[in-house]
Amino acid sequence: MATNGVYSELCGLKREAATLSSVAHLLGWDQETYMPKGGTAARAEQSSVMAGLIHERETSARLGELIAACEEDKDVQADGDRAANVREMRRDYDKATKLPGELVRELANTGSRAQDAWKAARKANDFKAFEPWLTKMVDLSRTKAECYGIPDGGELYDALMDDYEADARAKDIEAVFTPLREKLSALVAELLENGTAPDPGPRKVRVPQAQQHAFGLRVIEQMGFDLKAGRLDTTTHPFCEGIAPGDTRLTTRYDDDYFMGALYGTMHEAGHGVYEQGLPKVGADGEPSDVYGTPLADSRSLGIHESQSRGWENFVGRGRAFWQWAKPIADEHFGPEFAKYSVDEVYRSANVVERSFIRVESDEATYNLHVMLRFGLERAMIAGDLAIKDLPGEWNERFKDMLGVEVPDDARGCLQDVHWSFGLMGYFPTYTLGNLYAAQFFEAIRAETPDLDDRIATGDMSAVLDWSRKHIHDLGRRYTAAEMCEKATGKALSPEPLLRHLEGKLKPVYGV
Ligand code: ZN
Repeated sequence: MATNGVYSELCGLKREAATLSSVAHLLGWDQETYMPKGGTAARAEQSSVMAGLIHERETSARLGELIAACEEDKDVQADGDRAANVREMRRDYDKATKLPGELVRELANTGSRAQDAWKAARKANDFKAFEPWLTKMVDLSRTKAECYGIPDGGELYDALMDDYEADARAKDIEAVFTPLREKLSALVAELLENGTAPDPGPRKVRVPQAQQHAFGLRVIEQMGFDLKAGRLDTTTHPFCEGIAPGDTRLTTRYDDDYFMGALYGTMHEAGHGVYEQGLPKVGADGEPSDVYGTPLADSRSLGIHESQSRGWENFVGRGRAFWQWAKPIADEHFGPEFAKYSVDEVYRSANVVERSFIRVESDEATYNLHVMLRFGLERAMIAGDLAIKDLPGEWNERFKDMLGVEVPDDARGCLQDVHWSFGLMGYFPTYTLGNLYAAQFFEAIRAETPDLDDRIATGDMSAVLDWSRKHIHDLGRRYTAAEMCEKATGKALSPEPLLRHLEGKLKPVYGV
């Protein structure tokens, strides 16, 4: 593509900022994986200095001048890709310049320490120890939201959510979540009260960590995750970090008595990973591409990101066809205790529905209920309607309302997730948006490839990867999430495909 001087100078500045960001991400990854505990205070300072430097770059006056010049430039505006790139840069710039550097540094510094406090509090099941840190992070988040300003027709919480899902509004999300919650609660009740639960035998087979790790690597390679441009490590809270072009890091956690937790966690993160690897960050020559560091090489939104992870985890990994391919390989890794079960028994046990406490280990039917709980609570904390000290009680009460069981302790209640400790407020709803997108995308994939299950049963997962590359990964932030969904599936986002998927799969498994 022909570039003029202003546009290429702009992309050069964005690339430098992205390179600084990649260093900060590497520090974050290291903190979560290998850093000794003694490094905590220094790492907080490192993170804070990096956040300040990145913020300076992202808000520089020169960047603003170049964006304005490109908005006036007829050649740039006549080129759809470049015009979209400038539109997204304007969006980021306007947001970044609304935040004072001091606040950005404080969020990073306090967030890093609060995350450490959260880890200790969760381990000790001690909410009181975390409460002052959460209070600080909620206050800082509210300050951040006030700097952004309340968007048209929205509320303070929306300003935070916008960082993860551009233009999303809590009231619109609530309008989708409320009927979905009712239908999901009814489905869960029907399955558990009228159905027959599958034999949980296969999921309870004890598998040593080393075997789980070897099998996990085999599965993610089959998905198309490139291990020459990525790696898989262990951590407390699994995540994926697209650190730099050619360097995407996944983490998972292992429990010898629950291999499916790690397997589906690994597939989930690898779903994020294939998206990161599929974004046009690397050129044909293996060097960072021309658009690296600009929105065209960036993931669209967290909801879209989550559609990729949940898609692989649930629509592929929890399907019968996946186990037709994976079972003989798992038998070799897991041994005779596992091998004695049939493909169908393993498939059914991968779809047990339970009223359980931990979101990341929950099944497809209850998962969104866990998300809706957090959405309601964080929205209330940001609005100032819920005092931090009342969080555990409110969590437990709402949990009982929604899932019908008593939360035994805060470690399995409001202390289970890392997000709030480092200021990720407004992030949770993107998980359910991701499930909704995933369901709609998989209906489109199946329409294009009617023999999808036959192919997956032989280990050929290319139809999923190719469709995702073409309709999602290649596009970066070229379109809004709503446009992307409409172009890829011909329809606006709707909860119906997810409900069709869950009912279509789980009712036969439970015989109702
Ligand atoms: Zn995820």
